[in-house]
Amino acid sequence: MSHADSAQRSVVSLAGIGANTAAKLEKLGIFTLQDLLFHLPLRYEDRTHISPIGSLKPGVSALIKGTVALTDVVSRGRKSLIVKIGDGTGMISLRFFHFSAGQLKQLTPGTVISCFGESRYGYAGFEMVHPEYTVISSADMVITESRLTPVYPLTEGVRQSTLRKAIKHALSLCQENPSWLTDWLPSSLLKSFNYPSLMEAIHTLHAPDESVTVQALYSGSVPALKRLAFEELLAHHLSLRLSRHQARAWQAPVFSLDPSTRRHFFKSLPFTLTGAQQRVITEIETDCKQPHPMLRLVQGDVGSGKTIVSAYAALLALTSGLQVAVMAPTELLAEQHFRNFTGWFKGFQTEIVYLTGQMRGSARKSALQMINEGSAGIIIGTHALFQEQVNFHKLGLVIIDEQHRFGVDQRMALRDKCGLENQRPHQLVMTATPIPRTLAMLNYSDLDISIIDELPPGRQPVITSVIPAERRPDVIARISSWVAQKRQAYWVCTLIEESELLQCEAAEKTYLQLSEALPGIKVSLVHGRMKSTDKDAVMKAFKNGEYDLLVATTVIEVGVDVPNASLMIIENPERLGLSQLHQLRGRVGRGQDASYCVLMYQSPLSDTAKHRLSVLRDSNDGFVIAEKDLELRGPGEVMGTRQTGQMQFKVVDLARDTDLLDNVQQIADSLITETPEAVSPLINRWLGKSTHYAEV
Ligand code: ADP
Ligand code: MG
Repeated sequence: MSHADSAQRSVVSLAGIGANTAAKLEKLGIFTLQDLLFHLPLRYEDRTHISPIGSLKPGVSALIKGTVALTDVVSRGRKSLIVKIGDGTGMISLRFFHFSAGQLKQLTPGTVISCFGESRYGYAGFEMVHPEYTVISSADMVITESRLTPVYPLTEGVRQSTLRKAIKHALSLCQENPSWLTDWLPSSLLKSFNYPSLMEAIHTLHAPDESVTVQALYSGSVPALKRLAFEELLAHHLSLRLSRHQARAWQAPVFSLDPSTRRHFFKSLPFTLTGAQQRVITEIETDCKQPHPMLRLVQGDVGSGKTIVSAYAALLALTSGLQVAVMAPTELLAEQHFRNFTGWFKGFQTEIVYLTGQMRGSARKSALQMINEGSAGIIIGTHALFQEQVNFHKLGLVIIDEQHRFGVDQRMALRDKCGLENQRPHQLVMTATPIPRTLAMLNYSDLDISIIDELPPGRQPVITSVIPAERRPDVIARISSWVAQKRQAYWVCTLIEESELLQCEAAEKTYLQLSEALPGIKVSLVHGRMKSTDKDAVMKAFKNGEYDLLVATTVIEVGVDVPNASLMIIENPERLGLSQLHQLRGRVGRGQDASYCVLMYQSPLSDTAKHRLSVLRDSNDGFVIAEKDLELRGPGEVMGTRQTGQMQFKVVDLARDTDLLDNVQQIADSLITETPEAVSPLINRWLGKSTHYAEV
């Protein structure tokens, strides 16, 4: 089938769309008729009935009809034309900031008009600002519409009416020519879920019939919407699978390790690996023996021992004559890795180089040179690792810790300077944020996932309590007796709004208060606005026992390892997500003693908030907590903005449509085997020309 007689025709084939408009539509990702059909409404306006003025609610758009009672130009405040209309149930003012003399003449008292707009409380009572209006010239003039009016996303120079017309036209063309648009979903699926056909579903969203209400559309209960949301999820999932497939088609160096080196490495460790660690190590080793790049995500709760697992992967690369880059999101964490790796690789005659953005002068120069010439075997650092000046000699493995803190492009930047010819390095990414299975399927189906679901022996669960801020004096007293037993504690001040500045100010205030309330106790402060060298200095001093109590913002979320600090107070935990709280809490429980976490909330607390905190009190399992978080707050919150920000959906609302995720994987599997030709059209239909998934 040629493009000329399919939904792949260019939009210029529609009457009224010239080259000019077409160029503007391209900015919306619209090139073809199909693109028009999949340019779905953002929202709907309801002009299907006339609302009595007396029943209007502020903030809600409505169609009204009334008789002009008064027309006036006021110049108090901004000059505007005010037209008061009434319909017997109430009065409302229409306010126009831009108006013409013609309007003044037209809208004389006694004129009957209809208006559509959103009402609000204005200076002089209820008003609509710049409503659309029509003068009613005869009693039998129809002003209502039979269907909801779609409102489309726009771009500069494209009008709502242009899009409505073009989409209507495209719809009727495709309805007349059913073969133009292929429905790729298996009919058995449509049947079992009661989904309408593709054409029918699209038609419903653009031009809902009388039975469809705005509420039903917004709540996601309309089958047409569900069907399209499902198809969109499927397309995103397929796209990830495709890019994974493409990434694996590359060549990668094959790693091998002789058994004696392996034995030597494990013997020199101060502990034995857990079963889960051994299993994950085997998974990694199997990957790296293939001549294609490994793309593996290791998930494991805080303290589950991911670092040593990554060190083993590093060993594989090193003994195969290749370099390893280890990237961490903070200097603190990078330094901790540097220390650990230095210890573990003591007997292996390899240079370990540390590189951060802070390094200057000759230290930096020599580090860069060692990386470039290949004398550095393991390179550990922060974001500095993918700066321009860094070029690897032969990078065979990239390890990324706390993966969710880096963007996909940052991962790619590192890969692209590996110095391998026609090959790509293996990639191992690690995260302590457990991702519920359903979400992983959508976000990480480009990666293989390994899970470390076992903590090293002897770990004691953190005992968590939930108490109101009214009991602050008791908590302060508890710190006093805690420190008297030569133990240390954290006091965490959580986010206030989204402002880091305010968060730091709050921490400073708390620091002063606690210093005053706890004379004789050495209190220190660490927050995100401090220079990283100062931050590190404070953290080190705390670790060395120079301070008893550390007041901190959530910057201590990752990387802190102070076994003697086994009490943590978290203020206003209700402001944070459960997974983040769990991460924070993971800073305690690192030593032999029992550890405690006190969640000190601000009263009053809603039932949901109470329930959320109780989840944390009752469980120490990151996966259980993440699942609950997903249930209670929805995926956007759980994944964080960086993750969901990568995904732009047309119809899917992850919070609303979570249930649809259950079947995506299985349908994708059967599509790939039974109708492989459907894969790229589906991706193209929903993701268009966007390429953000194209590479991993
Ligand atoms: P995370 O998974 O949070 O990155 P780490 O790798 O930092 O955890 O490990 C936490 C601590 O547990 C470290 O001090 C590490 O040396 C130690 N550790 C790791 N594996 C084991 C094990 N199998 N037995 C005992 N301790 C272990
Ligand atoms: Mg770690």
